[in-house]
Amino acid sequence: MAAERELEILIIGAGFGGMAAAIELQSHGLNNITILERDSGVGGTWLQNSYPGAACDVPSHMYSYSFAQRRDWSRLCSPQDEILEYAQGVARDYGVDRLVEPHVDVTACSWDDETRRWTVSAADGRTWEADAVIIATGQLHHPAFPRIEGLDAFAGHSFHSARWDHDYDLRGKRVAVVGTGASAVQFVPEIAKEAGQLTIFQRTGNWFMPRRNRAYPAVLLSLFKHVPGLQAARRLFIGKIYLESVTMMIRHPRTLGLIGRARSAAFMRWQIRDPQLRRKVWPDYTFGCKRVLFSSHFLPALQRPNVELVNEAITGVDATGLISADGKHHDVDCIIWGTGFQTMKFMFPMEVTGAQGQSLGETWAHGAHAHMGIAVPGFPSMFLMYGPNTNTSGGSIIAFEEAQAGYIRQALQQVRAHSAAAIDVRPEVEAASDRAVQEHFAGTAWLACDSWYRDEHGRIVTNWPGYMREFIEQARTLDPADFTFLPQPDREEIAA
Ligand code: NAP
Repeated sequence: MAAERELEILIIGAGFGGMAAAIELQSHGLNNITILERDSGVGGTWLQNSYPGAACDVPSHMYSYSFAQRRDWSRLCSPQDEILEYAQGVARDYGVDRLVEPHVDVTACSWDDETRRWTVSAADGRTWEADAVIIATGQLHHPAFPRIEGLDAFAGHSFHSARWDHDYDLRGKRVAVVGTGASAVQFVPEIAKEAGQLTIFQRTGNWFMPRRNRAYPAVLLSLFKHVPGLQAARRLFIGKIYLESVTMMIRHPRTLGLIGRARSAAFMRWQIRDPQLRRKVWPDYTFGCKRVLFSSHFLPALQRPNVELVNEAITGVDATGLISADGKHHDVDCIIWGTGFQTMKFMFPMEVTGAQGQSLGETWAHGAHAHMGIAVPGFPSMFLMYGPNTNTSGGSIIAFEEAQAGYIRQALQQVRAHSAAAIDVRPEVEAASDRAVQEHFAGTAWLACDSWYRDEHGRIVTNWPGYMREFIEQARTLDPADFTFLPQPDREEIAA
């Protein structure tokens, strides 16, 4: 029997997704891997988002790889530097860091129908060739800015929360924060302590849940360290009960969602005694439709004497500040855009060209879709990590990414087993799974308002509609019958 051929694999992106793929493939003997990374090294979102107060609102015992568990997380939801240090440690321990080519800005991935291989090109003119490409650039990496008149006219300082300017001293300054999403609620309580005057522009209120996130007491840390099974039990509880209960509330907005709403409303009433401020922050949409925010610090920060909440739309920006819809001009020295990400862009503006020259941009002209969020018909041996419909509103994205990595590994093992050039998901299989995903949103809170999960037609493009365990279960076993195998160029047929 001929030896299985070695596959050359390119991974684009060295965040948690790219790392999960590399570790999974290596541990199954798929060792010829190069990771192309735009940044300086591993870490992805945790390298880019270093704003004050940055932390993961998913508890660390679950927001970590199943195979690289830690017992010494400093608190329930670890801060950015601790998560980055964890990612770097895992990269070292699993030999991922030596696979990374840093500072590579990938601009194009093109499939060649003749050689049946991919060519990946970078902005600096370099190119790589491979049998398979794994695009692990994620959903939340293109900063979004509002389309407001005069945005460039501002003469003061400005930056996006995902590109925090640590050299700019906010002390004593008049600062505007635009946006009150998951990032802003983390950095506002921190910068409110420093800024002279802080004006926060809110477009939509949020549902809040309490989260003090204090450091674990020494005795608890010691228990995690010394009591066998305690850390594993905590991970199990967080993953299977706590996080899945959030999904449950979103999936059942008229029953369990009302319990979540009541808990949130009681907490918010307790935190805000001023009825006028309460009216301003109160959300006007179904609990769970947008991300529920876990913070015990944001609403109190709004009540500091140097903080003002403006819940008027912003109609313009000029050299000295922002103009709100009530015609008021807000003079500021600095604008911080906490306005989130362009979530519909995925890997674009990268040019991705599949079989017969078809462009992924055109294939996705009416919204991104992929089988299991991973495979797109007509793009042989191209796989996505954290692709369409794989975002979680009640789970750990790392658990999803491990499941995706396992699925991709099986696909590549099938390529080898069939002595094939590449594997391509059948269009009818992808269409059916996309239909099933979309149908599974029926009746959920996600459909009850606009959010960054939906495209301009209202289709939910980012989120997984079910429970984390359902995704993991569906990704567990790849059925080769869902795919076709392309023979190697010098062969007519696929070996049985
Ligand atoms: P976001 O949740 O999308 O929030 C963006 C904010 O900007 C929203 O309040 C939005 O208002 C507002 N906004 C957008 N365009 C605006 C405009 N033209 N005028 C006024 N306001 C505008 O972004 P994010 O806070 O950066 O978080 C993005 C995602 O990253 C989160 O949902 C989460 O998945 C992830 N994240 C996770 C963590 C974590 O701890 N795990 C932390 C941070 C971020 P509307 O609500 O009206 O759109």
